[in-house]
Amino acid sequence: MVRKAFCRLTFLTFTIGNIKIKTRRIQMNLLFKISYGLFVLCAKAGKEESGCIINTFLQQTSMPETFSITVNKRNFSHDLVKQSGECVVAILSTETDFETIKRFGMQSGRSVDKFDGIDFKTTSIGIKVPYIKGIMGYFALKVLKTVDMGTHTMFVLSAVENKTFVESGDALTYDYYQNFIKPKPEINTKDRTEKWVCKICGYIHEGPLPPDFICPLCKHPASDFEKVQ
Ligand code: FE
Repeated sequence: MVRKAFCRLTFLTFTIGNIKIKTRRIQMNLLFKISYGLFVLCAKAGKEESGCIINTFLQQTSMPETFSITVNKRNFSHDLVKQSGECVVAILSTETDFETIKRFGMQSGRSVDKFDGIDFKTTSIGIKVPYIKGIMGYFALKVLKTVDMGTHTMFVLSAVENKTFVESGDALTYDYYQNFIKPKPEINTKDRTEKWVCKICGYIHEGPLPPDFICPLCKHPASDFEKVQ
């Protein structure tokens, strides 16, 4: 009995496509050592157009340059990339305001026009890209291949155009966002209500955190929350 309980705690099983995977539970501390950039993914299908924040834009090869992005299936922009087979990825800099992260990363393009009230450029493939502080430039991309990753889809991409808006400055990393751009939550320590903070966007959940909880702002799972002491 003890052994069974131990196994249940140590191993996870899940299915991606038609492959069943049994894995040891990943240690989160080591996961957080992996470095990422932060980007705005923009996409359009028919009259629908939107954008979202991703941390998974990577160059994979040169000559020719190919890239990859991995996007949560819950995101409206995911569906737009899948339908149209193209997208634009804008590179963010350390000058990025939290308002930009909120605009593109913490509301749904299904209910809001994320380009409303800001400057934007239209790229050669007809997709808008924000033209605001913090946007260093963009790559316009065509989808070569998609890979089903369970909760997400990976898109393998080829660049068809790119443009630089700002030559100087540093690209935004996920760490820099966490340390210098995301506002620190104000917690009333006298209040005894159990509280959990989303490590991704700073959203605070009050009361016990269900294991299947999804952050209402950034759509990250319960494993990305930590208890406020
Ligand atoms: Fe969140």
